[in-house]
Amino acid sequence: MGKKKEAGAICPYCGHKWTYKEKLLGYMIKPRSRTRCPKCKTYIEPSTKSITYEYIALVLLIIGIIFVVPNLPVLNSTRVYIVLILFGIYMFLFVPLSLRFEIINYNIKDKDHEERN
Ligand SMILES: [Zn+2]
Repeated sequence: MGKKKEAGAICPYCGHKWTYKEKLLGYMIKPRSRTRCPKCKTYIEPSTKSITYEYIALVLLIIGIIFVVPNLPVLNSTRVYIVLILFGIYMFLFVPLSLRFEIINYNIKDKDHEERN
C-alpha cells in the first residue's frame, strides 16, 4: 500500500494535528457543522469514513444498552455503571481515536460543474 497513513485527526488546511483535548472540546461536545480547526480557525468536516464508524459504534452502543445490558444477570445499579462505561468508551475513546477530517468539497464541485458547461 503506497498511500501514507495519517495518524490521528489532522486539519486538511494547515496540517495541525488535533490533540486529544481539542477533539473532546472542539468536536465531541459541539454540533458537527461548527467544528473549527483550533489553529487556522477554518471550518472543517469529519471524513465520511469517520462519520460511518461513529454511526456504527453508536448503533452498537444503543443495541447493547437496549438489548444486552437489561438481560445481564447483575444488579440494576451495576447496569447503570455498565451503560456509563459504554458511553464513556464511545465518547472518550472511540470517537477521538477514529476521528479524521477532510476538506469540504462544495465549492470544488461547483467549479467542476461550471467547467463542464
Ligand atoms: Zn487548520
